[in-house]
Amino acid sequence: AKERGGNRIECFTTTLNEVSLERQELESCLREALQNDELQMYYQPQFFMDGRLAGAEALLRWNHPLLGTVPPMKFIPLAEESRLILPIGEWALREACGQMAKWQAISPTPLLLAVNVSVLQFANGDWDACVAKALADTGLDPKCLELELTESMVMRQDHEDLVPLHRLREIGTRIAIDDFGTGYSSLSYLQRLPITTLKLDQSFTAALQSEDPQTSSENIVRAVIQLAHSLHLTVVAEGVETEGQRDMLELLGCDCLQGFLLGRPLPADAFEALLEFMSTK
Ligand code: C2E
Ligand code: CA
Ligand code: CA
Ligand code: CA
Repeated sequence: AKERGGNRIECFTTTLNEVSLERQELESCLREALQNDELQMYYQPQFFMDGRLAGAEALLRWNHPLLGTVPPMKFIPLAEESRLILPIGEWALREACGQMAKWQAISPTPLLLAVNVSVLQFANGDWDACVAKALADTGLDPKCLELELTESMVMRQDHEDLVPLHRLREIGTRIAIDDFGTGYSSLSYLQRLPITTLKLDQSFTAALQSEDPQTSSENIVRAVIQLAHSLHLTVVAEGVETEGQRDMLELLGCDCLQGFLLGRPLPADAFEALLEFMSTK
């Protein structure tokens, strides 16, 4: 029994070492990803309820020649721990703004570009200046940019910490709370935040129309939409995968939809083809 126990411990440490080796390797690969042009932005379309194209959320992709496609869930936490998210996030913002500025020129209607912001970028002193510079350099209208932050980044912050958000709102940039409903935000706090949009977390979309009324999120979603509208906020539902979910969200008064039912994240050329197709309709 003793021997078996020993083996088990040995096995366990080997696995741990492998995990940390993999992390270290991943981190050093990530360090080179920017220089080697391995990062790419994908664009997932967002639609108004009447089917018109509203814009796109920019999503990072990492294509490593040997590792293949590394999902953001795997490399973004690593990029945050190593602070590499600062140069990566800046690159992502500039890349997406530059792309959207070109698309605005060919789109008959203005489109919104949603970009995810890491807590480290947000906490970085010159973040709002960095965003303003990206807009100025790429020529994208600030009104067309929507920055996505999570609840934990903006809740319980001193007014002083929110100054960058106020400054960006002043130039017209939109601010969304991402994954709304998963944190523990005090609802009364919402009206004090300089925000324009709530992105309803996909878990609520998934739980719509559950057979069991106890677990259905219908009443929560209805309440969130009513609250958001009373605060003049736009509601975007994420993770829309079925017609049933779309119909329910329409019934509940949701403003915009994003999800695999309507469109997956696409590389720039494919999104451009979609844009051209939508323009001719
Ligand atoms: P997120 O911001 O909540 O982005 C939405 C995620 O849901 C995306 O995953 C998207 O592909 C996925 N999704 C969209 N529609 C559906 C659907 O109908 N069903 C399901 N099951 N999933 C759907 P992705 O691209 O893997 O990104 C994962 C997370 O990585 C993002 O979650 C975001 O937190 C982070 N991320 C992605 N790009 C960036 C970036 O440029 N900067 C930062 N800081 N984080 C990013
Ligand atoms: Ca997001
Ligand atoms: Ca989200
Ligand atoms: Ca999420």
